[in-house]
Amino acid sequence: MTATRRNTWQREAVRAALAEARGFVSAQRLHEDLRAQGSTIGLATVYRALSALVEAGEADCLQSPEGENLFRSCATHGHHHHLICRGCGETRELEARVVEQWASRVGAEHGFTEIEHVVDLFGLCANCRE
Ligand SMILES: [Zn+2]
Ligand SMILES: [Zn+2]
Repeated sequence: MTATRRNTWQREAVRAALAEARGFVSAQRLHEDLRAQGSTIGLATVYRALSALVEAGEADCLQSPEGENLFRSCATHGHHHHLICRGCGETRELEARVVEQWASRVGAEHGFTEIEHVVDLFGLCANCRE
């Protein structure tokens, strides 16, 4: 088996594990899940596969308030926002027209073009609040 084929297989394993995850997960968490399923995949390989999936637009990446990189295979492929439970990781995908309008208006007011933004909300879901 060539290195390329092996990498492809490992990326598929990471893609599948990410699809099964309930919400946003860290690379370490995904690595633990894969090891628990009997995979011998290394943490560095999980990182590389996740980066490749993000680059290909097949996964979303965001930073938790604690500064940890979190990953998710989102159902929505276009631009969107997230509402994430910091207790259990439950995630909702959001459209936020008011944010889009605000971003382009503020950019224009300052003479900026090609504005990009990242807006993700963290909180506690109804289950975790109890
Ligand atoms: Zn929760
Ligand atoms: Zn937006």
